[in-house]
Amino acid sequence: MCIMKKYDIVIVGMGPSSIFTAYELIKLNSNKRILLIDQGKRVENRYCPIQEKNECVRCKPFCNITNGFSGAGAFSDGKLSLYNKDEDEIYVGGNLQEYIGVEETKKLIDYTDKIYLEFGADKKLEGTEYKAEVEKIKAKAKKEDITLIDIPIRHLGTEKAHELYRKLEEYLEKNNINMMFETIVSDLIVESNEVKGVVIKDSKKYNSKKEEDIEEIYADKVILAVGRKGANWLVDICEKHKIKTKAGIVDIGIRYELPDEVMKDINKYMYEGKFVGKLEPFKDKVRTFCQNPSGFVSEEVYDNNLSLVNGHSFKEKKSKNTNLAILVSHNFTYPFNKPIEYGRNVAKNLNELGNGNILVQRLGDIYRGKRTWQEELDNNQVKPTLKSAVPGDITFSIGYRTMTDILKFIIRMDKIIEGFANPNNLLYAPEIKFYSNQLDIDNNFETSVKNLYSIGDGGGMTRGLMMASCSGIQMARIIEK
Ligand SMILES: Cc1cc2nc3c(=O)[nH]c(=O)nc-3n(C[C@H](O)[C@H](O)[C@H](O)COP(=O)(O)OP(=O)(O)OC[C@H]3O[C@@H](n4cnc5c(N)ncnc54)[C@H](O)[C@@H]3O)c2cc1C
Repeated sequence: MCIMKKYDIVIVGMGPSSIFTAYELIKLNSNKRILLIDQGKRVENRYCPIQEKNECVRCKPFCNITNGFSGAGAFSDGKLSLYNKDEDEIYVGGNLQEYIGVEETKKLIDYTDKIYLEFGADKKLEGTEYKAEVEKIKAKAKKEDITLIDIPIRHLGTEKAHELYRKLEEYLEKNNINMMFETIVSDLIVESNEVKGVVIKDSKKYNSKKEEDIEEIYADKVILAVGRKGANWLVDICEKHKIKTKAGIVDIGIRYELPDEVMKDINKYMYEGKFVGKLEPFKDKVRTFCQNPSGFVSEEVYDNNLSLVNGHSFKEKKSKNTNLAILVSHNFTYPFNKPIEYGRNVAKNLNELGNGNILVQRLGDIYRGKRTWQEELDNNQVKPTLKSAVPGDITFSIGYRTMTDILKFIIRMDKIIEGFANPNNLLYAPEIKFYSNQLDIDNNFETSVKNLYSIGDGGGMTRGLMMASCSGIQMARIIEK
């Protein structure tokens, strides 16, 4: 039986982009009836058992790392990338500036940063103190055809990020924002190319086709804020309702783990070094991403049980290793243009080689053309922080082009940071960023379907906490205007 409910605004997903839309609507004294829906749990009920069990137990129905209040932000490292005041470069974490301009984006970042501070973010800004030292590293990188992007970072740390989002959850609730948890939006209601609402189900019954398990909620405006986790869902929804998309990219790579000692200068001067290069022969964009000093490699489970590797660090609990992603951007044209599917296939094959687990391999073993064995890993100088990772051979499945790009990049990086290409360093795979189904949106973030909007990582506009949050603030302002 269908029960009909009506709201002014329904937001699908409760990641940072959604939270900050709701926050700003409150600040603007909006009198609209707002409903936020997420397939995951409240932030205080989100918990990843991997810390006790040393292996991923594949939480059902959804992975706690990526679903629920604050989305992928809850267990993130909480690095808020700001912008470089001198160089005018704001391309870290998304393309918001393409929609609203550079100056507006800067103002939005300043405004959003203040909100994070209000809710308890660390006042200390990383990467602003050691200008001369950073310039020296930049010059070294330039010689190797690699650019070092120098952006100040505010580091929340995983446990603090959790606390901060808990306060935001309370704030939204106190201000009459309606929230539905453990509820999946299975479809959109679209009539004559105009969105009318959403179709929902209890998350535990997400496979059910029974009519009594389905409910329709009507809304004047629907905002999609589904994050990377919702990328697959978005592909199906766009196909079904003929929502226009643009050709996207997929970033495929590895999580690299090496001693803090090797990364000590970057860790101290910048906290996170963002190195980018386009090396011969493919000239693909290769970049480091999400660097976590004294951090921990982590695992997250996506749709179809795909295990992907990631990394984070705590403010207090420390390891002796730094981890960072090395990602290669791939795009496709003709006759194949399905970046998400390509990424999914690479991940699936790598998962199979690890018997469903994340694979780990020593760099030296890749040079020697052999797999890594458990005994070798046990005796390795760099001890893996992801205990559930299984030693094996990444080169079987990651693809020649991606592997070549990564190895060439590591060798170049060794000339900038001595020890970066040490054979004991560890590569974990697959690390894949599925933000590639880019929705075709206008400057008001409206899709080709009337009153249907897209913000955050899901539609491909952003790739990080700060930009995703900013897109939410801007969304609220657009709506209230
Ligand atoms: C381990 C980890 C570490 C990270 N570290 C950093 C970092 O240090 N710095 C940084 O800038 N970024 C980091 N990120 C990325 C950052 O978390 C994301 O960029 C950000 O959370 C994106 O926000 P969002 O609102 O677009 O989507 P998300 O945060 O992904 O939230 C989307 C939400 O939508 C829900 N959803 C999806 N589909 C549906 C549906 N059909 N029905 C109902 N609900 C749905 C999901 O459950 C999820 O809660 C990290 C991510 C991870 C996983």
